[in-house]
Amino acid sequence: MLERCLGPRRVRQMQRACRHSTVTFLCLFLTLVVLRGTIGAGNNGDANSNNYATFDLSKILVDEPLQNDEKRDPNAPYTLGPKISDWDEQRRQWLRANPDYPNFIRPNKPRVLLVTGSSPKPCENPVGDHYLVKSIKNKIDYCRVHGIEVFYNMALLDAEMAGFWAKLPLIRKLLLSHPEVEFLWWMDSDAMFTDMAFEVPWERYKDSNFVMHGWNEMVYDEKNWIGLNTGSFLLRNCQWSLDILDAWAPMGPKGKIRDEAGKVLTRELKNRPVFEADDQSAMVYLLATGKEKWGDKVYLENAYYLHGYWGILVDRYEEMIENYHPGLGDHRWPLVTHFVGCKPCGKFGDYPVERCLKQMDRAYNFGDNQILQMYGFTHKSLASRRVKRVRNDSSNPIEVKDELGLLHPAFKAIKLPSSS
Ligand code: UDP
Ligand code: MN
Repeated sequence: MLERCLGPRRVRQMQRACRHSTVTFLCLFLTLVVLRGTIGAGNNGDANSNNYATFDLSKILVDEPLQNDEKRDPNAPYTLGPKISDWDEQRRQWLRANPDYPNFIRPNKPRVLLVTGSSPKPCENPVGDHYLVKSIKNKIDYCRVHGIEVFYNMALLDAEMAGFWAKLPLIRKLLLSHPEVEFLWWMDSDAMFTDMAFEVPWERYKDSNFVMHGWNEMVYDEKNWIGLNTGSFLLRNCQWSLDILDAWAPMGPKGKIRDEAGKVLTRELKNRPVFEADDQSAMVYLLATGKEKWGDKVYLENAYYLHGYWGILVDRYEEMIENYHPGLGDHRWPLVTHFVGCKPCGKFGDYPVERCLKQMDRAYNFGDNQILQMYGFTHKSLASRRVKRVRNDSSNPIEVKDELGLLHPAFKAIKLPSSS
């Protein structure tokens, strides 16, 4: 009918025009939908935005102000908790009553709890949390291979002991709550295992209660503030450890106490820059001024890196791969690489961010290659997130042996008492 009035050509033209305008309208409609979304998301007041990029996290994470009854009397001396003086006896009784929770898994294989953590808030920069994930993944891997339990803390147990002092109240709490744990292993969030095969020589520490990376001369003679490092250490669960925590804590409370103590530490210790009291300087000071009291139970280890400063290690990884192998337990292959001063979770560090993050990735991949080799993979390079196959899959998977023997290492085996 229409065709007859207007002619077939005209009708086709009209149909095309109609289709065109449908498309145009559809486009307009979609544009409006998208625009509305973006405008809505840009406006943080919109609680229904689907856009993570522009979302303001402070809307979700609210910190209630401190109640007055939570504040400590500023005139009373700081303590980590009620005085305990018979912990060894209390613990001995508990262990006797709970034979299913032995503090030694085998002779010379203590039950160990690795403790690490980070602030309750997200990192102050967007990539920081990604590196925290890599770092805890790295620790989980080492601990699984070595039969060590892990505790990750994100709660500030004592508001006065914020920052690098937060580990003290936490460690005390864990020692007292887990009498079955023989050694607690503190490790900073910015430290990574770079030797997955090395088992700590527990036998060497049978008469020690506190093991840190350090040098006797630098601590006791020089009083050098970097004579030891508190980024990774072992602490035995015993009365002596509760006592040294008590002696360590008084410089910690945030504010005037920590600031004033910082001045004392800078004056008394070699090469210490001017800043508030930190746990590491406080430990050097405590040992240097109390060698008779503490010295014989403190083991300053420097055979392998319980903590290894990243600046002297990361450029040597290729050379290590070329010449050595994991598990050596000395300076040829560092157990831990610690990114002191990088502050990957903060706003500012002491080094260029690019250098820190690049090197953290290298350390992560260096350690991760030792894990991946168990499954027949490796990173394409220390700089690469990508992996490649180093072994073909076998139809006899049971027969596959991993190079480092990490799938079923002797130090992880548990001996059950024989049933006969
Ligand atoms: N830390 C924590 N809670 C906080 C801040 C820090 O548990 O709120 C821990 C975290 O594991 C961190 C360690 O304290 O690695 C010490 O701080 P950092 O590594 O930044 O000091 P550095 O090793 O650079 O001296
Ligand atoms: Mn650190």
